Amino acid sequence: MVFARSGDPAGGSRGVSAFFVDLNSKGIIRTHLDDIGTKPVGRGSLFFDDVHVPAECIMAEQDRAFGTIMAGFDYSRALIGLECVGPGQASVDESWAYVQEREAFGAPIVQYQGVSFPLAEAETQLTMMRQLCYHTLALRDAQRPHTTEAAMCKWYVPKVTCEILHQCLLLHGHFAYTHGLPFHQRYNDVLGLQIGDGTAQIQKLVIAREKAGRVALQYAQRKAAAK
Ligand SMILES: Cc1cc2nc3c(=O)[nH]c(=O)nc-3n(C[C@H](O)[C@H](O)[C@H](O)COP(=O)(O)OP(=O)(O)OC[C@H]3O[C@@H](n4cnc5c(N)ncnc54)[C@H](O)[C@@H]3O)c2cc1C
Repeated sequence: MVFARSGDPAGGSRGVSAFFVDLNSKGIIRTHLDDIGTKPVGRGSLFFDDVHVPAECIMAEQDRAFGTIMAGFDYSRALIGLECVGPGQASVDESWAYVQEREAFGAPIVQYQGVSFPLAEAETQLTMMRQLCYHTLALRDAQRPHTTEAAMCKWYVPKVTCEILHQCLLLHGHFAYTHGLPFHQRYNDVLGLQIGDGTAQIQKLVIAREKAGRVALQYAQRKAAAK
């Protein structure tokens, strides 16, 4: 599915349509990106050079696809939050078990607050982040506005989960610095979710626009000044 400008280039969010395009069409070049995480998914770039797309390949209403994409993001961004909470909680659960079992200086390392406090903090953060995601989805179910909350899920949860995974890795010592334990892989997977579906900067722009209106957007001001 390809989203492409079909209308006035100056039309802003109006004038984007969705097309179903056969990937084997003449003029399409595919590349593979060697991502450091979520490897089973597989990603790449597509280049279109004079590709012919018949009119019947347009999906839904012409020039109105952008709003549909954005409404989809309000859903996927909450789900991405939960996609991070999952490996984050699993890693914290595994870390609680490990620090009770592992002994140093004659005591299980959980007795050292330098070990238990990061996990206590992670439990707090995961509980808050899970509730933020559920709250966003509940707003969506109730057909109430949730763009701001979805953007909060998207920038905050992957960032804090990366910090939690980093901490879980350190608490497992050298064994976690090998491929034998999953923390590094989970870190790389969640790191990608700080970028995909829109970076933190873009989410903060969304929140600022929802709170302060279009005056908060630099490009909107540049456009107005150019008129
Ligand atoms: C795991 C993963 C999954 C992905 N899945 C998809 C997918 O399914 N479909 C798809 O189309 N793409 C997908 N992407 C691509 C992703 O959406 C883009 O990489 C992302 O939106 C950033 O765009 P960019 O790479 O062009 O970076 P750029 O836009 O070049 O940004 C580079 C840096 O500049 C910052 N920046 C850019 N503009 C501004 C601004 N106005 N204000 C402040 N900072 C700014 C960005 O935040 C970023 O830090 C995926 C990427 C990853 C890593």
